Amino acid sequence: MYDPLKMAEEVAKVVCQNDQRKYYRFRSARFYGGIATGDCVGCCLRCIFCWSWPEVINPEAYGRFYAPPEVAKKLIGIARKRGFDQIRISGNEPTLCREHLIRVLELIPEDLLFILETNGILLGADETYARDLARFKNLYVRLSLKGATEEEFFLLTGAEPKGFSLQLAGVENLFRAGVQVQPAVMSSFSPPEHIRSLQKHLGHIHPELAELEIEELVLYGDVAKRLEKAKLKYRTAHQPRRIPPEQV
Ligand code: SF4
Repeated sequence: MYDPLKMAEEVAKVVCQNDQRKYYRFRSARFYGGIATGDCVGCCLRCIFCWSWPEVINPEAYGRFYAPPEVAKKLIGIARKRGFDQIRISGNEPTLCREHLIRVLELIPEDLLFILETNGILLGADETYARDLARFKNLYVRLSLKGATEEEFFLLTGAEPKGFSLQLAGVENLFRAGVQVQPAVMSSFSPPEHIRSLQKHLGHIHPELAELEIEELVLYGDVAKRLEKAKLKYRTAHQPRRIPPEQV
């Protein structure tokens, strides 16, 4: 078991350098109807279903450092060339290098929507981070909860169960700061009653947060082998879907 905040500190020493951050690729992707994507290196979790596992567990070995203007230039260039109006940092955990992320956001023109895909741990641990993000009007945060309970969070990530509360606090801090936030949940390991109680919890923060995006497992790379080794039962699907509270 590990503390995800300590893990964040340790990994940041490897992948953040002043305002620079390690990335392992830039690409156009079909998700969200087409989006320019930078894949960063380094995460504070170790999810058993992670599709970018090599970069997560061995950040020293992957990518190189990029300064914010280089990242912005690459992402804007891909978006303009492909006619996309959205960009994102994906791959591993974008919030790990705070100074870098804020600087990149400052360089993205407002006609491009920036989709921040995060596990929300650091946003839950420090509400000033969410407040820093609130000034970017073209920012949309998709916060992916790793399971629907503390126990599931622990089973899926191997991290201290308190990390799940940090994820929920991340949703709350963003919402209260006025950032557009969409909670999503990896549901392939959760019985429906756990999803329902998670929705209820989020609905107490604000009713609109109860409309969870449901993520289901996709068996990329060696994910199936890892799950088999851990003897975890799961369901799979090819596309995430969003469901209103009454349908869960
Ligand atoms: S939070 Fe995302 S990047 Fe990090 S280990 Fe989990 S799935 Fe992989």
